[in-house]
Amino acid sequence: MHINPGRIRAIRDGEAHGPVIYWMSRDQRVSDNWALLYSLDIARRLNEALAVVFCLTPRFMGATAEDRSYRFMLDGLKELEKRLSGLGIAFILAHGDPGDVIPSLIDDSRAGILVADFSPLRISRTWKSMVAGRTEIPFHEVDAHNIVPCWIASQKQEWSAHTFRLKIRKHLAEFMEEFPDPRPPPRPWRESVDNRWNAPADQDAPSWMIRSGEQAAAAQLERFISEDLDLYASHRNDPTRDVQSGLSPYLHFGQISAQRVALNVMAVGGDHSEFLDELIVRRELADNFCYYNEHYDSMDGMPEWARTTLDDHRGDRRDYIYSHEELECAKTHDDLWNAAQLEMRIRGKMHGYLRMYWAKKILEWSESPEDALRTAIRLNDRYELDGRDPNGYTGCGWSIGGLHDRPFGERPVFGKIRYMSYGGMRRKFDVRKYIDRIFQMADQ
Ligand SMILES: Cc1cc2nc3c(=O)[nH]c(=O)nc-3n(C[C@H](O)[C@H](O)[C@H](O)COP(=O)(O)OP(=O)(O)OC[C@H]3O[C@@H](n4cnc5c(N)ncnc54)[C@H](O)[C@@H]3O)c2cc1C
Repeated sequence: MHINPGRIRAIRDGEAHGPVIYWMSRDQRVSDNWALLYSLDIARRLNEALAVVFCLTPRFMGATAEDRSYRFMLDGLKELEKRLSGLGIAFILAHGDPGDVIPSLIDDSRAGILVADFSPLRISRTWKSMVAGRTEIPFHEVDAHNIVPCWIASQKQEWSAHTFRLKIRKHLAEFMEEFPDPRPPPRPWRESVDNRWNAPADQDAPSWMIRSGEQAAAAQLERFISEDLDLYASHRNDPTRDVQSGLSPYLHFGQISAQRVALNVMAVGGDHSEFLDELIVRRELADNFCYYNEHYDSMDGMPEWARTTLDDHRGDRRDYIYSHEELECAKTHDDLWNAAQLEMRIRGKMHGYLRMYWAKKILEWSESPEDALRTAIRLNDRYELDGRDPNGYTGCGWSIGGLHDRPFGERPVFGKIRYMSYGGMRRKFDVRKYIDRIFQMADQ
């Protein structure tokens, strides 16, 4: 099986003897998963068994077992367990901190090699260095999330989509390849596995609720391509039309591969460059930012010009200042903002165009840019199904901290940060229609 070696890097090299463990984290799927394909390839070469391990921590970046995103993830993992078992691959749902759980699983199973998928986020990097420090077997990392592996797309933090686009284009032809089908490993896992699932599935979900899992993700992609793709370029900024793909929760949990999305979109023909630019350039730029900037979720990580201009306007009078709780409960004077906040709370996904407005108003109504960024990230991570993602830190940074953007005309509070107004939104789409729709949803 050919897997481009550029997708893989060794956290620790060495010769492998024994079963293979794929520690799955960010890429929670069977189909189109380079980390799984690579693990299967090693298992075949070693004539060994393979287990996929997922570590369930009681809290993950502020999410608890009661949260919708946690349930969404568990529903997806249950489907994954079935699909893996159909391929003769054991799935172990381990409970606890990966820094403890993975090393003891390696000991118990006498595993010969560990494979992990890639994430640029702090928590994942900390876990990996803990695991590396407590184990001795070879440990490889595969970027199964990005089309062009993050470390190949660019070797430094890029300052704009423009500079990144030029770099990523050079590598796209090489990495935009079809995936082979996963085939069963040569041997079964020795120990039998009986997973403990501690959260019930969401039985009575309303129709607008986003369904979890690889099958739901594939169906959403098919629906988007047949119904909305042709309207994307012209109507994607109209929240009343909702022609966005709706794929971000699936991409976030790795229930669908961005490369699969790109391949299927390109296969239908026509010019879909606007969509592909968001999916490839903007999404992979977010990974680039979080990978190369350790302050990705604070004002310290924002560009110098933006911090300076925001500093200059620190003392400006704010017409409204809202507390975190007032914002969380959608209790502002602005009915559009309240509706967007409600959409996020109820559905777990705010329309993309409103996310910019939403975050910029938080800057306008907070005591300081630092407070604004903290609040936006906290709400985004808590309520968006696609939250806790490089796209979220980058989106909040773009809106509030001028990240990947340029200076605009100077105005109070914002300085030279790009501004968005209620009037501007009204000129773009039927604000009343959107608000009414969200309040109807809230009444259901
Ligand atoms: C303040 C703010 C917060 C955001 N928080 C998140 C978040 O937590 N998680 C998240 O996935 N996206 C986030 N975004 C980016 C974007 O709004 C969402 O990815 C998009 O709205 C998701 O809906 P969709 O899948 O239907 O998008 P589509 O428009 O159909 O786009 C397809 C895919 O392209 C990618 N994409 C689209 N726009 C962007 C963008 N601006 N930056 C990076 N990737 C993009 C996403 O992976 C998306 O799923 C945020 C943007 C802002 C301004």
